[in-house]
Amino acid sequence: MPALYVVATPLGNLGDITLRALEVLKRVDIIAAEDTRHSQRLLDACGVQTRLIALHEHNEQSAATEVIRRLGEGQSVAMITDAGTPAISDPGARAVARVREAGFRVVPVPGPSAAIAALSVAGFDQGGFLFVGFLPAKSGARRAAIEALRAQTPTLVMYESPHRIAESLADLAATLEPTREIVIARELTKLHEQVVRLTLGDALAWLQSDPNHARGEFVLLIEGAPAREGLDLETERVLSLLLAELPLKTAARLASEITRQPRNALYARALELKQG
Ligand code: SAM
Repeated sequence: MPALYVVATPLGNLGDITLRALEVLKRVDIIAAEDTRHSQRLLDACGVQTRLIALHEHNEQSAATEVIRRLGEGQSVAMITDAGTPAISDPGARAVARVREAGFRVVPVPGPSAAIAALSVAGFDQGGFLFVGFLPAKSGARRAAIEALRAQTPTLVMYESPHRIAESLADLAATLEPTREIVIARELTKLHEQVVRLTLGDALAWLQSDPNHARGEFVLLIEGAPAREGLDLETERVLSLLLAELPLKTAARLASEITRQPRNALYARALELKQG
């Protein structure tokens, strides 16, 4: 049966390629790769002779058309990106959607992903995580994005490049509580792998304490907001803002309409806040 195999590849250490990934890459008719020159080195090192075609963010639609054409001819196709799992902050999702729409099978061949590798060594025990991917490049949009995440209780998982790591750490510390814990995981599975856990308030100083700390690729894991009994942080924020401007009853009613939380609970909390 023709199928598109979505194949995870190593983040840095070639030994992390899975046996199944190798078998699939050898057996498919063609491999669609984000950067064919980069992936050719991986294939050469693994003894895979299958031919490559390009599938990257700038040609994803036309490459998807080509993949569908080949599937229609009965061929099988693998898709890989430069590192880790395709479609995770990487091209691939649009091609996958097109292939599925066209009625062909899409088969995951799981393996490395930087987010999961970082989570596995972070030691955060918050039950869940929220994958954010890359924060926006511009500071205003980045701060707004961080602000929107402030009340989230799961561990926040972000990707960052060496060009923007300093700005992002500064904005995270300025926008979230500086006492929150962050795990900075850099160069995972590579020679200079480093995983540190510290507070957001100390993160920028750590980065700047050694030029090597800012090199490589980063996953940032940030402790989620503490879970509160009763109202969540966003509801508390809305209620406090309204309470500062309006009579108690009106503030509780409006907060209830905005947040869709029960009016009684908001009224009771508003009373508590008013009484100090
Ligand atoms: N699809 C990939 C995955 O499954 O992890 C992610 C691709 S995304 C374009 C690249 C980003 O992933 C980097 O900027 C970095 O944030 C993270 N990353 C990739 N390799 C890494 C590594 N070895 N150590 C730490 N972070 C890494």
